[in-house]
Amino acid sequence: MTAFIDLKTQFARIQDDVEQAVCSVMRSGQFILGPVVAELEERLAQYAGTRHCVSCASGTDALVMALMAKGVGPGDAVFTVPFTFMATAEAIATVGATPVFVDIEPDSFNMDPRALDRAIKALNAADRSIHPLPGLDHEALEALRPKAVIAVDLFGLTADYPAINGIAAKHGLFVIQDAAQSFGASADNRRAGSMADIGCTSFFPAKPLGCYGDGGAVFVDDADLDAVLRSIRVHGQGSDKYENIRLGITGRLDAMQAAVLLTKLAIFDDEMGERQRVARSYSTTIADSGLPLVVPTVPETHRSAWAQYTLIAADSASRELFMSRLAERSVPTAIYYAKSLHEQEAFAYLGYARGDFPVSEDMSERVFSVPMHPYLEDSQIRSIVDAMKGGEL
Ligand SMILES: *Cc1c(COP(=O)(O)O)cnc(C)c1O
Repeated sequence: MTAFIDLKTQFARIQDDVEQAVCSVMRSGQFILGPVVAELEERLAQYAGTRHCVSCASGTDALVMALMAKGVGPGDAVFTVPFTFMATAEAIATVGATPVFVDIEPDSFNMDPRALDRAIKALNAADRSIHPLPGLDHEALEALRPKAVIAVDLFGLTADYPAINGIAAKHGLFVIQDAAQSFGASADNRRAGSMADIGCTSFFPAKPLGCYGDGGAVFVDDADLDAVLRSIRVHGQGSDKYENIRLGITGRLDAMQAAVLLTKLAIFDDEMGERQRVARSYSTTIADSGLPLVVPTVPETHRSAWAQYTLIAADSASRELFMSRLAERSVPTAIYYAKSLHEQEAFAYLGYARGDFPVSEDMSERVFSVPMHPYLEDSQIRSIVDAMKGGEL
């Protein structure tokens, strides 16, 4: 049977190394932070191309810590996309700030920089005719201060940071790269995590670089920011363990997960290469099949980390047909994301309405993702595409 993400085959490949690495942590008795975590941070910073890496307990914590480190809180507006995983906007709300949504581009699934510019102008003028804004009363809206942008690298393709950083700088905002799905991706010779003021990633097992539990990391060049993030990670600790100079969280990565990640980093480049092969194979096989599906586009200057291989069907009925044909042959599929965040109950308080983000809403009705991992063979890809054609079982 085809796995959606095949962690078993990967484990068989690294089993000896990973068992040794985890055992050695258990023997050391150093379970939280420590030398293995420090080594991992050094290797990750080197990989991403930043001066510093602060590992942490999850991708969500990475985003929360980044916002806390920059002092984002109540009264601040943070611009982000509605077509993403819950955690991106949730982190903004967790620190007490207000998410302001910006629609995506249909070909990259990522933030539309022109829409971002309009959204910032709209908020500055408290004028909904320029761009949809949270449904707060006029006074509350006028009181919101634009503070930051969180762009998301959906499905592994990095967002348009040259444009986004430029617009943010023009308005005095800082930018966070949500690279939870794009660790290992690159654009114009820069790696994911290093493309904005702060990079955040996740090591949830299903992400391109995953551990065997929860984990995440923050990437920065600024030494002061690095120090603040390290303090926030441990309850706002000062120079002494029981001195607390700010509010923080329990955001540490444990040493066993760091040991797993170091083992997986050794094969990560090879796996990234395999993901490119799988994506190419899907795209050519689907094009040859003549099926009415839009395959993902990646600019020539970019390399996607292929967290997902996501197709766009003509409409929701067509998507349902493709997914049921695949289900009949036991091929797993998933919809990322069936509901945009502005339509989620948790964000009802923001007062957005259907129609506010048409591209996001349209994509929620038409996208579906098929199995994607480095161990997918060309023959499996052919049978997945054959299954989508339907016909006799
Ligand atoms: C997975 C994910 C996160 C959160 O990561 P966790 O490690 O699960 O907390 C944040 N943003 C995006 C885009 C993600 O895909």
